[in-house]
Amino acid sequence: MQAEAVRRGELPPVEEVRHGVWSVAFEFGDGIDDHSLGYVVEGSDGALTVIDPGWGVEANLDRLESALADVDHSLADVDLIAVTHLHADHLGGAEALRRASGARIALHAAEQRALGERTSDAAAADADIARWGAPRDDQEALVASWGSGRHLPALTADLLLGDGDVLPIAGRLLRAVHTPGHTAGHLCFVEPEQRLVFTGDHVLPRINPGIGLGGRTGTNPLTDYLASLDRMVALDVAGPDALEVCPGHEYRFVGLRGRAEALIEHRADRSRDAAAALDALDRPTVWQVAERMSWSGGIASLHGYRLGSALAQTEWHVQDLGRADELRAA
Ligand SMILES: [Zn+2]
Repeated sequence: MQAEAVRRGELPPVEEVRHGVWSVAFEFGDGIDDHSLGYVVEGSDGALTVIDPGWGVEANLDRLESALADVDHSLADVDLIAVTHLHADHLGGAEALRRASGARIALHAAEQRALGERTSDAAAADADIARWGAPRDDQEALVASWGSGRHLPALTADLLLGDGDVLPIAGRLLRAVHTPGHTAGHLCFVEPEQRLVFTGDHVLPRINPGIGLGGRTGTNPLTDYLASLDRMVALDVAGPDALEVCPGHEYRFVGLRGRAEALIEHRADRSRDAAAALDALDRPTVWQVAERMSWSGGIASLHGYRLGSALAQTEWHVQDLGRADELRAA
């Protein structure tokens, strides 16, 4: 049903995923025609956990309220908001939901750190942009969208999660799995008994997730992301016990292992592109390497945030190859 709705460009309806687990679609803000998927999980005491309450627009709180009413609940029953990562389409609605329900917000400690360090992170991103050597015409838009002009909300969580932590939900064993890559503190949540895994933006059915989109840690987000995909491969099993993936966008699917392997392969292709560019060029800038990599639509079609993301990824691919010393700063 979700896949059909996505194909028709509609907001998917509320669906019961398992007994006491529902999927709710939330719309984007800023006039963007898209949606994210959040999930409501009921504990044995009737208390509710909302995983990723969507973008912080009023319509989403109304949508959640009516979804809960349909299953004989209200916003007051929500006592935990578990967030996969700090992006507006996942975390944005958390503050309003906390205010409306009194629920606690839980996220990974690295996401909290990234929210706190967003000013110094942005200054470091400006220095990256200066080094990459993108065309002069693109510089301003890069700083505005990828560097110090980029806006991240402030938020203080009530509960900081680490890898392996079990969410405080009565009668359920829902475990946090730290999957850095898309952001530094990205979390997946797995409930082995129900054969469910909530993957946020780490693994999506069709989209190749961007990487390094929140929190600077001194590690390479690509290397982190590949290790986090390996964890997904290890988590899943073939056959009737395969996990059902509840992603943050698009639709639910079975086949986590195959999808994670395909994402790893996609990154290997990009690394091969980067290696070929380094072989062909004498001390190129990041921009010159990126020009020779395959981006859907080509590098010339990318501007602002998408261009910033492409150039950052290029540099991380080169670093992951161990060939960063072959790059030249602009
Ligand atoms: Zn995201």
